[in-house]
Amino acid sequence: MESETPTKICRTCFSEIDARAGKCPKCHSLQGPLKQLLIAGIILVVATLIGSAIWFDILVHRRLEPHGPNYAANIDVVSSRLFFVPKEKGHSASVVGQLRNSGTVAVDVITLEVRLLDKDGGLLDSVTRSLSEHLVPNDEISFKVPTYQNIHMPQDSYANHVVIVRSAKQR
Ligand SMILES: [Zn+2]
Repeated sequence: MESETPTKICRTCFSEIDARAGKCPKCHSLQGPLKQLLIAGIILVVATLIGSAIWFDILVHRRLEPHGPNYAANIDVVSSRLFFVPKEKGHSASVVGQLRNSGTVAVDVITLEVRLLDKDGGLLDSVTRSLSEHLVPNDEISFKVPTYQNIHMPQDSYANHVVIVRSAKQR
């Protein structure tokens, strides 16, 4: 009876076990196909996670940077002010102000570039920031562009600033 049952040798403990066994009854280690299936399963899960992460990244970037026409010319910077925020070492700067949509279409994502200038108009620092704001025609919104990092020059070097509307797009 026993001689009729096909057997194999366990990969781990080298005991003679049933050829159909997925797991060795003596040392409990996984055998052949089941072990390969488990490895294949792990590879599939990892590949799916990496694939999802790549897709998520693409979707997020498309959301933040929509395609389509640029209505930047319709967006006016009504006012802006430069503020200095003291930090442990030096200070950072923030520009706050007001934007107005003087066009005829609503926009959802506005990208602003803030340039910090010295008294001769020389560029000291530049920060670009996208704002997710739904701005309808003839309406205004306030904005804030922080520089985050410490600015590298003494505060009184920053004599002026300009705010440039780089893009204004619809979702
Ligand atoms: Zn074994």
